[in-house]
Amino acid sequence: MQNLSNIKMLVLDVDGVLTDGTIIINSDGSESKFFNSLDGHGIKMWKRAGYDVAILSGRLSEPTIHRAKQLDIEHVFQNCLDKLPVLQEFLKQVNLSPEAVAYIGDDVVDLQVMRYVGFSIAVANSVDEVKRHADFVTTQSGGNGAVREAIEYLLKKSGKWQELMKRYLA
Ligand SMILES: [Mg+2]
Repeated sequence: MQNLSNIKMLVLDVDGVLTDGTIIINSDGSESKFFNSLDGHGIKMWKRAGYDVAILSGRLSEPTIHRAKQLDIEHVFQNCLDKLPVLQEFLKQVNLSPEAVAYIGDDVVDLQVMRYVGFSIAVANSVDEVKRHADFVTTQSGGNGAVREAIEYLLKKSGKWQELMKRYLA
């Protein structure tokens, strides 16, 4: 079994990963998105395990800011047309090597980052190119629990899962 206990930071794309990719433009020009509560609790469990989370999105979207606040995600990078240099700068700031990072993506704009980090994850609804380059492909699709599935996979592979489950089974 591959040991993934060296992964300390989970970096998430938004559209197609934390959502199903749907972008609702309201008549006043504002945006709506659907997020999944399973992913939300998964992120809480990931943080409870002592790990960190960041959001790295190509688009700038107001709902993403609110969702990140709800989930206590302090590292939020949006409007990143080129994701890799943004991630590299961030990792320098937090003093982490790419080997300590897992990234979840769905589209070709995620490929550079996925090939740079220690562990790359494609959601089920990813384009074929992304699946081909991923270390792990989820069964669930984005917005439908893919992030939760990926987190459970990482926590199980790092031996943290059983300890985390104790509070729910007490
Ligand atoms: Mg995407």
